[in-house]
Amino acid sequence: LSTWSAVPAGPPDPILGITEAFKADTDSRKINLGVGAYRDENGKPYVLNAVKKAEEIITAAKLDKEYLPITGLAGFTKNAAKLAYGADSPPLNQNAIAVTQSISGTGALRIGGAFLARHYPNPKIIYLPTPTWGNHIPLFKDSGLEVRNYRYFDRKTVGLDFDGLKEDLKNAPEGAIVLLHACAHNPTGVDPTQAQWAEISDLVAEKRLFPFFDMAYQGFASGDTARDAYAVRHFVSQGHQVALCQSFAKNMGLYGERVGAFSLTTKDEEERKRVDSQLKIIVRPMYSNPPLHGAHIANTILSNTELYQEWEGEVKGMANRIISMRERLYELLTNGYQTPGEWGHIKSQIGMFSFTGLKTEQCKALAEKAHIYMTMDGRISMAGLNGSNVEYFAQGVDAAVR
Ligand code: PMP
Repeated sequence: LSTWSAVPAGPPDPILGITEAFKADTDSRKINLGVGAYRDENGKPYVLNAVKKAEEIITAAKLDKEYLPITGLAGFTKNAAKLAYGADSPPLNQNAIAVTQSISGTGALRIGGAFLARHYPNPKIIYLPTPTWGNHIPLFKDSGLEVRNYRYFDRKTVGLDFDGLKEDLKNAPEGAIVLLHACAHNPTGVDPTQAQWAEISDLVAEKRLFPFFDMAYQGFASGDTARDAYAVRHFVSQGHQVALCQSFAKNMGLYGERVGAFSLTTKDEEERKRVDSQLKIIVRPMYSNPPLHGAHIANTILSNTELYQEWEGEVKGMANRIISMRERLYELLTNGYQTPGEWGHIKSQIGMFSFTGLKTEQCKALAEKAHIYMTMDGRISMAGLNGSNVEYFAQGVDAAVR
């Protein structure tokens, strides 16, 4: 008898499983709209010029491969916080932000979950939007928090269920934690307006909820990193203490390098030092210290004026290409194929994803008949579309809904 004979086979990951099916498909027209990774106009992965130049600088500097400190590369964490909170952020300038490098956004969420499970003084319950990035649910459960949901998306309007959101947060126990997607909500592509963010901030204050931001797409939503940080900066300006998870996977295209940061705003420098010490105690037995190379790349870009400007231009370029695909797809479905249904949300949704409104059966049909792969909730990665395949995709959607 094997030690592991009672281990049941688990289901494949819903998103990474799609890539498997896509790879196995031999049709030349196949399209992968499942995974959230940017693709260029030719459908190819894109390494940013700013990243290539940063790597040249790093190579020329002949750095060693010594361990980083537990909380990572100090220059990187400082610059990451500056990018998110803004150079004029009071807690940043008061040395009151505790920040640690993380294994990209997922690792940041996990450190945050573990920190709150250990030190959060109020109910250890986290409210997640429905729907949310699928990994949030097991991630926070595994961190030891109780997971509950608040309404977010209205299938009827294909927009924000703002009344449902407010009602659910009003009914949350005082002091609960609320996870907020800072921008480019995944999977819906639907973000609150600035006026709605202001109302959410007031409600969070009223109920003494703890705002926990996941910012995986800074710059990717609008093409402007400051604009995409609006929600986080607004909450901080209103006196909230926040938790923040950052990822450089999308906005620098550093997916596999695993570059991210987790931060907490604190009362003052003395409190920040106590919190820092506990972040180290969380990280040390998890993975000891983070990887070096990606942090050097991001830090080189963030600290070099010329590279920073080039990077900003490239972020804008990626965001704009996605926005132009939204417009093209909308045109094709409405004026082009006159596909039944309302398609305005394709244009109004924000960021990498669009929640098309396609039903599971239609998504299945697209995979089987048209070699078009997406998650079964109808989410597509807009970045997978380009000038050469968008027409074929629109045609497939048209056939699937008729
Ligand atoms: N949060 C959200 C909402 C995401 O969409 C993603 C990436 N799909 C992440 C976090 C984390 O990604 P990574 O660990 O690659 O930075």
